[in-house]
Amino acid sequence: MAVTRTFSIIKPDATRRNLTGAVTKALEDAGLRVVASKRIHMTNEQAGGFYAVHKERPFYNDLCAFMTSGPVVVQVLEGEDAVKLNRDVMGATNPADAAEGTIRKLFAESIEANSVHGSDSDENAAIEIAFFFKPEEIVG
Ligand code: ADP
Ligand code: MG
Repeated sequence: MAVTRTFSIIKPDATRRNLTGAVTKALEDAGLRVVASKRIHMTNEQAGGFYAVHKERPFYNDLCAFMTSGPVVVQVLEGEDAVKLNRDVMGATNPADAAEGTIRKLFAESIEANSVHGSDSDENAAIEIAFFFKPEEIVG
C-alpha cells in the first residue's frame, strides 16, 4: 500500500465547540499525518465551488450556508491509502449510522453538521487539495 494524500475539513460545528485538537488527534491516532493546515472562513464562492458536485441536491444551499457559518480548518493528510483511512476514521455521513469510535459518532451534531469532510477518491483529493493549497504550503 502506498503513502497517499487526502483533503480534510474540520467543519464549523467542530471549530465552534473548540474540537480542532480533538478531531486532529483522532486523525493522527488513526495514522494520518497533517502535512498542511490552515484556519479560514470560507466565502460563499469557495463553499459553492467546493460543493458544486452537490448543486442539484436538496441540501446544497443549506450546506453552503453551514460551511460559511464559522471558521473551518482545511488540512492535507498523508498516510497509507489516506483517502480510505480518513473515511474509515470519519465514519458514515449520518452520525446515527456511524460506527463506534469514529469522529462523526463521537462529535457530529447532525447529518449536516457532521464535524468533518474527507475526500472520496484519490482523484478528488488532488482536486480538493489544489482548491485550497499552493504546493509550497504542503510540507510532508
Ligand atoms: P460525505 O461528507 O460523507 O462524503 P456527501 O458527500 O454525500 O457526504 O455530502 C456532503 C455533505 O453534505 C455531508 O458531509 C453533510 O455535511 C451534507 N449532507 C449530506 N447529506 C445530507 C442530507 N441528507 N441533509 C443535509 N445535509 C447533508
Ligand atoms: Mg462527500
